[in-house]
Parts: sequence; structure tokens; C-alpha cells
Amino acid sequence: MRPAQFQQLANQFWILDFRLVVIGQPPWGIQMFSSNTDRQHPFPAIPEEIKDKFAISNLFLRPFGWFEQDLNIDFNQKLRPYLETQILECCTRDSNCKRCDAFGATRRIDRNFFWELEIGKRTECLLILATLAGASELTVSFRCLNQACRQQMEINLTIEELIEIQQQSSQMELRVRIGNDSVAIRKPTGREQLQWLSQSFTDEKAAVQVMIQNLLAEHEKSRFLPAGIVPDEWVQAIDETMADLDPLVNFTLLVNCPYCETQNQHGLDLGELSLQRLHHAQENLLRSVHRLASHYHWSEAEVFAVPAWRRSRYLALIEKEENR
Ligand SMILES: [Zn+2]
Repeated sequence: MRPAQFQQLANQFWILDFRLVVIGQPPWGIQMFSSNTDRQHPFPAIPEEIKDKFAISNLFLRPFGWFEQDLNIDFNQKLRPYLETQILECCTRDSNCKRCDAFGATRRIDRNFFWELEIGKRTECLLILATLAGASELTVSFRCLNQACRQQMEINLTIEELIEIQQQSSQMELRVRIGNDSVAIRKPTGREQLQWLSQSFTDEKAAVQVMIQNLLAEHEKSRFLPAGIVPDEWVQAIDETMADLDPLVNFTLLVNCPYCETQNQHGLDLGELSLQRLHHAQENLLRSVHRLASHYHWSEAEVFAVPAWRRSRYLALIEKEENR
């Protein structure tokens, strides 16, 4: 049982006017080494209480796919929350940290901070990193769901727009109205996602019960105990609210097929799309190291001793030489 199934129950469709692009356009270009190594992005807004808890002040995200430590990330892990946490840890810096330079490898931020981030916030971070690693748009391919059509189409999603959607629903806790009553619920965190993925449930209903109970405020739980069962009507109302609460976690697009004009509903895993691009960035970095090492007979350590912008220049020179 995966959290996505919980989210599926809360399927609310975000009808967004995304630009349709004709298939055949090249995919996003990955630029590995920008000459601007200062390229960084502010970390999404986080509540003050979390900042205080982890003694962090001014966080930012640095691009993935430029530094030696980026090669240590294993993209073939079974449990995605681990992979996401490692990437976030690798790319998050505190600009007020006195002990480290902007891109220093020193691990300063408590790993628990990343586990305690909401899934939606983690997805937002991954989308930002995907942007920093390449173009500011994500290209997604679909096939028309109309069996008589089945044409392929591509859509470009602007990451700024996606982030804006998430930011519009940034409350930590939300009250769900149930008849004349209301219940306080909050968004799931990375730690809860991992916990749910690691658990086995008898059926979907049992999974949803556990997930909702995890997300209820402590004082709300006492309203169901000792029976420990969330009433069905509450489950439904909470389910319906979850998509509003965390739009990036269960992202769905309504797309009008330009060939047959049928309307298609497509669910999109934005986290997975971001991870694919970051994996691509890592492969490019590996290829660049291989190229420099082969050409100049440098060791891996020697390659990384050269700043990213200069590596980029050397790579351009090698290419120029080869094309002569
Ligand atoms: Zn179609």
C-alpha cells in the first residue's frame, strides 16, 4: 500500500491551462556547468518553529550535478523517500553558516529536518533542483486515452507555476468541515511517507485509516478512541481535502487532445519527473569527469579540484579540438 493510493482517493483535478507543444521538439537541454556557479535558489518557506528546532536560518538550494558529492547519490534505491532525503541534504545550504563556504561539503543541517518536511515541500524542493539542473520547464509525454486516437503529445510544465500552486496551499494544519463539526489535519511528512511505504496493510481501507490517524492532531485522536476508527464520512471529507492541501503530491492534468479533441485526465508524479532529471544531471557529470580524466589523464580528485566553470571551459575546448 503506497501513500499514492491514499492520494488517489482525494483525486481533485487541477485544470490548468498548460501550453500544448507539438511532439518532435527536443527535450530540455541539460547544461551541466553554467559559468555562473552562484546559481542558487532560496529554500521554500518553512515555519519558524521548524527553523528554531533545527537551528537553521537562511537556507538555499544549490544546483545538483556539479560537485563530487553528487556522484555519491544512488538513484537505484528501492525506497524513494531515502533518495529524496539524500538529494535534499546534499543540495541544501545555510548561508549564515560560518563554518562552510557556499558549496561546502560539510554536513551541517540535521537530517531529521528533511524527514520532517512535508511531502509537498520536499516535492517543491525537488522541482526547484530539477530547474537548477536544466531548463525551467518540465516536458511530459502522454498518449491520448481515446483508443481510436492514441496520438502522442507533449506538455511543457512551467516549474514556477507548479511551485506557485504549492505555495497557495501552504498552511501547516487545516480544518476539514464534516457536517456541523470540523477536524484538524496536517500534511504528511517525508518520515510518514517512508513509514507507510515500509508498512503492509490488509487492504486500502486499513491503510487509509492508519494514514488519517497519523495526520490527525493529538486532541482529535481522542475523539475516535477507544474504538480507534475514523468514521467513514470523516474519511471521505478528509480525502477530498487532501488534494487541496497538497496539490503537488497528487498532481493531475486535464488535457484536451489536439488531434481528436477528447479531454484526457493524466496523473503526474512530479517528484519522479524531478528525480529523472536529476539522475540525468548526475549521468552528465559522470560523463564529464570521464571525458576530462581521459583527455588530460587527471584522477577524479584532480578533476573535481578544478572549479565547475573551468571544467566547463576545458570540456568546450576538448569538443572544439575534436570537431576540427
Ligand atoms: Zn486524441
